[in-house]
Amino acid sequence: MRLAPNAAPAADGLYETTPDPIVEAALPNSALTRWLKQGLARGECPLCRVAHKADREYLWNFFEENVHTDAGVTALRAGRGFCLAHGEALCRLEIDGFGSTLGITEIYEVAFAGIVAELDALDGAASAQPAAPCPACVNRERELHANARHLVALLGEDPRSRARYRTTDGLCLPHFALVWPLAAGDTRDVLLTVQRASAHEVLDDLRHDRDGWRRALHLTGGWPAPDDLIGRPEARVAAG
Ligand SMILES: [Zn+2]
Ligand SMILES: [Zn+2]
Repeated sequence: MRLAPNAAPAADGLYETTPDPIVEAALPNSALTRWLKQGLARGECPLCRVAHKADREYLWNFFEENVHTDAGVTALRAGRGFCLAHGEALCRLEIDGFGSTLGITEIYEVAFAGIVAELDALDGAASAQPAAPCPACVNRERELHANARHLVALLGEDPRSRARYRTTDGLCLPHFALVWPLAAGDTRDVLLTVQRASAHEVLDDLRHDRDGWRRALHLTGGWPAPDDLIGRPEARVAAG
């Protein structure tokens, strides 16, 4: 079982014991950790919260700022549109304030002009070129990696966050695999203690009470975005 692309099997077969270079981060300011703390307060994987909020911020900003910029349009065109998940999120945006159905039409007209040009240039003997990654996915990954480091700093440096974390189910396993190589010492102990406890509880519930399947889904696949989250713009907070 490999949980991260760079994870070597450990003695227990689950997680690597030789981490990537450890990041000894100072405690970041509150603007940078606000999404993590929201996730902790909700008892969810704090990095799942980051993913949802980063998506919302990106998509709203896309319509407010990026739609007419070369960078935004170029990224979307290179990606041949958004991925399925971000396309669905786009459709759920509260569209009245931005007339964004028109915006979706406009940006996909640009994306499709690129797609049509590529198809017109493709002959039967050529191989098709892969698309660039979905730009919203790129943004999400960037936020997740930055926040994984912030979380390690929070758990190491902020007693309140560490105490709160101990009351939760920990991280979903994909995000546990992201954070684990960044942590060391006491922070690793906290991460592992919480993750083991929640995994044992879920297994007990599944075996004995035939219950706990929803926690099992969250811990393996991640916490879902709240239904109403995408419909409102993300508040802007200056990260000073
Ligand atoms: Zn997660
Ligand atoms: Zn995407």
